[in-house]
Amino acid sequence: MNLIRSAYKRLLAFHGPQGWWPIINPANFTSEYQGVTPPNEAEFFEIAVGAILTQNIAWKNVDAALAMLKKKGMLHPASVRRIPLARLAGYIRSTGYYNQKAKKIKNFTEWYRRRKFDYDALRREDPAVLREELRSVNGIGPETADSILLYGLGVKVFVVDAYTGRIFTRLGILSGREKYHEIQNLFHRHFKGTARDYNEYHALIVAHGKDCCKKRPACVECCLFPLCVKNI
Ligand code: SF4
Repeated sequence: MNLIRSAYKRLLAFHGPQGWWPIINPANFTSEYQGVTPPNEAEFFEIAVGAILTQNIAWKNVDAALAMLKKKGMLHPASVRRIPLARLAGYIRSTGYYNQKAKKIKNFTEWYRRRKFDYDALRREDPAVLREELRSVNGIGPETADSILLYGLGVKVFVVDAYTGRIFTRLGILSGREKYHEIQNLFHRHFKGTARDYNEYHALIVAHGKDCCKKRPACVECCLFPLCVKNI
């Protein structure tokens, strides 16, 4: 499984560091990639809301919704608790399924309230316990839970998405039939980096899936071409 490590090195050399997770700059209300910084309380709630909003939608739509929420002072759990559901849904229309996503944000906020909004306690908690709790929140699936854990809390957990499945199936590492946890376990076993490396790897996979290994892949310009069974 050196292929998993080789692919990481090639993707990093080709795309460069991605600096996830993007955070809204209050000066211009656009999200900015800031380099990998330690997770912190100020950004945790925004990252969790962004992870919910990005379900089944491109980030540019999420960007607009986060900017709106920031302008309205809604990237704060106390504000989200107070606002009526319909108004919250109106602010995030650009992300699609906005009524459902508004409920999910409310559900997540309620979970955070049950945790006393104590970010430091979350950082000290057993990640397996947190993951289980997050997965039990209505509307939070494995990818969203893992994004919150990795990018919001700095937990070393590999985030799997559709790009991961597509690229690593084409590389011949996956069959295309694996479930989420099977893909995640494979990466946990064969990619022994830090949480920061896991952050970077997921971001690089997204970049590559968008720019190169698209539905119709651009193989001639692909940095993974020498590793790819699709081209053997
Ligand atoms: S060579 Fe083509 S199919 Fe293989 S990873 Fe690159 S873009 Fe995807």
